[in-house]
Amino acid sequence: MIEAAVLTVDMGALAANYRLIAATVAPARTAAVVKADGYGLGAVRVATTLYGAGCRHFFVAHLGEALALRPALPGDARLYVLNGLMPGAERACAEAGVVPVLNALHQVERWSALAAALGRRLPAVLQLDSGMSRLGLPGYEVDALAAEPARLAGIELVLVMSHLACGDEPDAIANADQAAAFVARADRFPGVPRSLDNSGGAFLDKAEHHDLVRLGIALYGCAPQAGTPNPMRAVVRLDARIIQVRDLPAGTGVGYGLSFTTPRATRIATIGVGYADGWPRHLSNRGAAWIGGMRVPVVGRVSMDSMTLDITDVPDTELAPGAPVELIGPHQSVDRVAEDAGTIAYEILTQLGHRYARRYIGAAAGADQPRSVEA
Ligand SMILES: *Cc1c(COP(=O)(O)O)cnc(C)c1O
Repeated sequence: MIEAAVLTVDMGALAANYRLIAATVAPARTAAVVKADGYGLGAVRVATTLYGAGCRHFFVAHLGEALALRPALPGDARLYVLNGLMPGAERACAEAGVVPVLNALHQVERWSALAAALGRRLPAVLQLDSGMSRLGLPGYEVDALAAEPARLAGIELVLVMSHLACGDEPDAIANADQAAAFVARADRFPGVPRSLDNSGGAFLDKAEHHDLVRLGIALYGCAPQAGTPNPMRAVVRLDARIIQVRDLPAGTGVGYGLSFTTPRATRIATIGVGYADGWPRHLSNRGAAWIGGMRVPVVGRVSMDSMTLDITDVPDTELAPGAPVELIGPHQSVDRVAEDAGTIAYEILTQLGHRYARRYIGAAAGADQPRSVEA
């Protein structure tokens, strides 16, 4: 192994997380959200593993992501583009058999026009804004469309959907408000299957999951809701290696800006992971790594390609050059790293660097993908 760190992705845990939630929300079906390269873990790997676990519905953000994924999945897998239909992208979307999420009336118009030009019906999802004010038809566009259903000519509505602004906050009043607004607006399109929940929504204490749940972060092992125990299995681990160890007297500065001064005689280890690898620079003098089951605080600034740890209390036996340093794993979850960095697990995952050796393990790891090291 030549890399400074190994990112291990447990495809067995990924599939288990899918099965757990699919069973919990049944009879609603479960879709996988694999945007941003499968939350940084490899969209093709993730999607093919989940297809093997029974998933047939896959959401990405951009048409380009769908086009890249389409050839990797069997024909009965359905791919949806959350960010909708950009002007000029209509034919590429239709030719690839990708389903756009129509987020505004002008998108409905362009999709309907293409259906007329091609002389066939085209499938689409209609997103209704139920209170998040980001994507989807606002109320007045829902009214306009419901009043004039001919505007949907040539469009086969396969789903109406909306998105929760506070699904990860179980006590937020907005969840009930949005659920009610969604049902009221979806009722204007009778007979069309419905989808509202993301990971957080799937765990809200309520009976109604509608017809399809769109699952992202929980699949990847992170906590679906803030402040409640995480029922998911961890999918990611990240292990760096010690490059160099040094012993410093009290009063010595460490790293860029000398932002840390040793308060006592201190032993420092340098590891080869930095902000260019997605370890937030905001974790300078914050958060920790783990060596031999001991917490070792990050001291000094996180550099581009390295950072420094206070290992004064770690036994020598753990400190050989190349010895492992846990950054994400059994002692430190992605959620914990995110909390220390003042961000969310989504951001930590999607920023995971491209210089790590990637090791895919678990039953469904597959064998023929690039950038992998055999388990
Ligand atoms: C990203 C996204 C999801 C998945 O959300 P998670 O919180 O990761 O489960 C679902 N629906 C929409 C519209 C999204 O943008």
